[in-house]
Amino acid sequence: MSNITQYFNCRILQDHNLVWEDLWVRDGIIEDPRELFFKEKTSPQFRVDCNGLIISPGYLDIQLNGVHLEGPFISTEKRGAHPVKYIKSMNGGYQSIIETYGDIKNVCIVTLAPELEQSAEVIKKLTEKNIAVSLGHSMANLMEAEKAVNQGAKLITHLFNAMLPFHHRDPGLVGLLTSHNISGKQIYYGLIADGIHTDPAAIRIAYKANPKGLILITDAIAAMGLKPGTYQLGQQCVTIKNSGAYLAGSNVLAGSIANMAQCVRFFQYASGASLEDVLEMATLHPALLLGVEKNKGTLDYGSDADFILLNDELYVQATYIAGKKVYEAPNLTTEKFLLPAAVSDN
Ligand code: ZN
Repeated sequence: MSNITQYFNCRILQDHNLVWEDLWVRDGIIEDPRELFFKEKTSPQFRVDCNGLIISPGYLDIQLNGVHLEGPFISTEKRGAHPVKYIKSMNGGYQSIIETYGDIKNVCIVTLAPELEQSAEVIKKLTEKNIAVSLGHSMANLMEAEKAVNQGAKLITHLFNAMLPFHHRDPGLVGLLTSHNISGKQIYYGLIADGIHTDPAAIRIAYKANPKGLILITDAIAAMGLKPGTYQLGQQCVTIKNSGAYLAGSNVLAGSIANMAQCVRFFQYASGASLEDVLEMATLHPALLLGVEKNKGTLDYGSDADFILLNDELYVQATYIAGKKVYEAPNLTTEKFLLPAAVSDN
């Protein structure tokens, strides 16, 4: 018996466009319907009426998906919520990295400040090992930033936050968005669009300057979803107040408490970007950065069937992982049809 589900009456994100197309899933993988009909001559076992909703690839948060080591090789001045006593130099080059982190086999991203001594060697070595080097928590000027990109760095950690502010004579890390000195490489940058970390005007500047590099991130901490109060973050205390997370007794932001769906909605509201553009900033772009775009971040044939159903206001109505529904909004009204075995089994 075929184990194929056809999602119909939906718009799916395909080749940068939202198109009225059906989505076909078999054994947790998105399938090409032409293969199913004409070559295998099979038909679906289940049909799901999506009632006009949007199907988008599942959101990827590069701060949370996979191992991202943020620090301790960062600038003391721009440490944000990182405790100063743990900040380290990398004077021993790559050896300092190994001594601090130990095994880095499963690491996807390392955030470091490129102005630190020996950064050139460290960036080259990490890049050779297919670890994305991200620039952040840094006082770097634009020249130092460009050098780091030419050595292999390809990401900026939470743009605008914990770096030198944009200055017209030295735009610092922010200047990478429009730099002509990085051999035409695509620089990616994480943006926390929670409505607190980045002003809407700054969001629009980044979006207009370099839309292809924009990756939405939440920077969310474990207290996400909890009521106002004081909670633990590592060895520190964090107060949740006014929809933000702050180091207890201070106004230093300590990550966010927004989820990805909120950031996607706020970004769309602030930027006026098309739904297609906004969704790709939370799906395709992070997948490209992490090099997982063959399986994640798109609805291309052969990809994992990790997807979400959204209404036009970008509220998540249902979440599927490997073709299995793992979340459904309380008021969701999609209908599922089970076809008789005689029909479904060809
Ligand atoms: Zn940070």
